[in-house]
Amino acid sequence: MDKLIVSVATTGSPGTKAQNPHLPITEEEIAADAVRCWNLGAAIVHVHVRGDDGLVTCDPRRYARVVELIREQAPGCDIIVNMSTGGGAGRTTDDERRAPVTLGPEIASFDAGSVNFPDRVFVNSPQFLEQLARDMLQYGVKPEIECFESGMIENARRLIAAGLIGPPYWFQFVLGVQGAAPATVKQLLHMVEQLPPDSLWSVCAIGRAQLPMNVAALVMGGHARTGLEDNHYYSRGVKATNPQLVERLVRLGREVGREIATPAEARAMLGLTGDRRLASEPSGATEASG
Ligand code: ZN
Repeated sequence: MDKLIVSVATTGSPGTKAQNPHLPITEEEIAADAVRCWNLGAAIVHVHVRGDDGLVTCDPRRYARVVELIREQAPGCDIIVNMSTGGGAGRTTDDERRAPVTLGPEIASFDAGSVNFPDRVFVNSPQFLEQLARDMLQYGVKPEIECFESGMIENARRLIAAGLIGPPYWFQFVLGVQGAAPATVKQLLHMVEQLPPDSLWSVCAIGRAQLPMNVAALVMGGHARTGLEDNHYYSRGVKATNPQLVERLVRLGREVGREIATPAEARAMLGLTGDRRLASEPSGATEASG
């Protein structure tokens, strides 16, 4: 089986410190967790940023600051940065959501369709997706194609057929969202079987479904995302930290024979072509890490 690409989604858009005091909110906290998780084996950090009010924002300056702080805190850190284009809670416009792509991160999230979240509609119109795909092509950003249910794979296939998303295709299945596909092995298998050739896939799942879906990915040959964006708990009643969740996933992967992909190995597997100097040095400095 392929080496295991571990992603950590440290923050997300709706979570609060009241729910879990370990949730990183400021750029400093997000960068520090990224470095800790990289040290434990995470190849990719999926980043959301917050405003001074603690609510989600798509401000590219804050994204750039996170990357800058990662390099400052650990100059050798070569973790792949995946910037969210998800926005949040209807507070962000489509244009605001596209803004982080202009920083040229190696990966950005690409929510491949609209879905009911428990209390709102997460709108990703066909027009928005086409524009976002064009932006990512322009800036050399690999879309992480987030699919909350199987119809979103078909949306992605249409964009692939139109030449707007190039191989290899990197899918992230987000299971267990109320209003979308359930987090079951049967559902996961069904979605994997729908993928076009030359695809790699990872799975994340909400709440208590995170761990079993991660474990399913380990034995199915997929990749896995953990982190506090998707789940606040390490076990029943015990609040987790991001490093604890990464450490457990890496340990479980090794126990079932999955070696852990370094960021460099993940870059090769995913065919990342993003301008890493731009992604890692938004201020225009020249040092590039290995
Ligand atoms: Zn996210």
